[in-house]
Amino acid sequence: MSRFYNFSAGPAMLPQAVMEQIQAELLDWHQVGASVMELSHRSKEFKSVAEHTEQLIREILAVPKHYKVLFVHGGGQGQFTSVPMHFLRPNHYAVYLQTGAWSEIAATEAQRYGQVRVALDAKNNGYTAVAPQNSWQDFSDAEYLYYVDNETIHGLEFNNVPETGNIPLVCDMSSNIMSRPIDIEKFGIIFACAQKNLGPAGMSVVIIHEDLVERETAHIVPSFLNYKKLADKGSMVNTPTTFSWYVIGLVCEWIKKHGGVEKMEKNAKARSQLLYDFIDHSEFYINEVHPENRSRMNIPFSLADESLNQKFLEESKAAGLISLKGHRLLGGMRASMYNSMPLEGAKALRDFMQEFVKKYG
Ligand code: PMP
Repeated sequence: MSRFYNFSAGPAMLPQAVMEQIQAELLDWHQVGASVMELSHRSKEFKSVAEHTEQLIREILAVPKHYKVLFVHGGGQGQFTSVPMHFLRPNHYAVYLQTGAWSEIAATEAQRYGQVRVALDAKNNGYTAVAPQNSWQDFSDAEYLYYVDNETIHGLEFNNVPETGNIPLVCDMSSNIMSRPIDIEKFGIIFACAQKNLGPAGMSVVIIHEDLVERETAHIVPSFLNYKKLADKGSMVNTPTTFSWYVIGLVCEWIKKHGGVEKMEKNAKARSQLLYDFIDHSEFYINEVHPENRSRMNIPFSLADESLNQKFLEESKAAGLISLKGHRLLGGMRASMYNSMPLEGAKALRDFMQEFVKKYG
């Protein structure tokens, strides 16, 4: 068996050591005679898994005590709904920064629940740059300001945290959580679907200030998504996705063992810089995102001669580099490189791209 370098945007590659540990303990977890997948979520064994995972997230991201860490069904899009359902009151409005496909989808979803204004729309530059905050529309009486720290499809990443004063800041960190240190205190809510930097799909990790948890919110919020109920019941309003919860814990152990978020940041810079430098020095490959806003996680690129796309995909696959096809909205290619992608993977891709130019350029 051989594992390829997998550039999928998500579900994405997980660390090999984690996959091996899952395999080793799949049938009999910690000598209980059953798989962790087969344990009751109410058992003391699973509770220890759940608490350990939360503890690790708190430690790795330095989450202060007055923030809750919740494990929620519904992945990323579950939160697109949950946030406005909780906080967008009638006759008020929420503000979204539209910097790519995921913030656009989230803003559209929020409109189902109330009034949405867009304070920054990067669509007019093709989602290639984030304009400075002093050029955004005023949002001083918004319910919350929502943004996506890393746009997975367009390959656009914020290089600073928006200043919102007393307005709660809501951040979708699905595709770059745990890839650099963050100051949690600046945020009201951070959420991340698991299937990129954390584990298997289906679950979102939500880090939320306790004041927001305690706020009275609309009765329409379904119980299993309700932040207060989730917080009160240890994220077990109904049966949680226990297997994801367990794997997230293993991934967190791996991150901790490998130097924490500081080291993950260094790795991400090294991997992405290698590819951007190469792309910028070639006339064969193109990435149009402003260098200041280029994502360290997702690198979309196109071939100057698009008729070679299919060949590129076939030959990269034959070279052990998979899932490089770009998102259907953008076409071309995309290399997603999350925490578990070793530098060797980025080098192998760069070398392949170089050879491909020699052959067809
Ligand atoms: N936000 C971002 C930034 C994403 O990249 C994605 C999925 N790729 C989502 C949200 C949606 O996640 P899910 O498919 O788990 O709903």
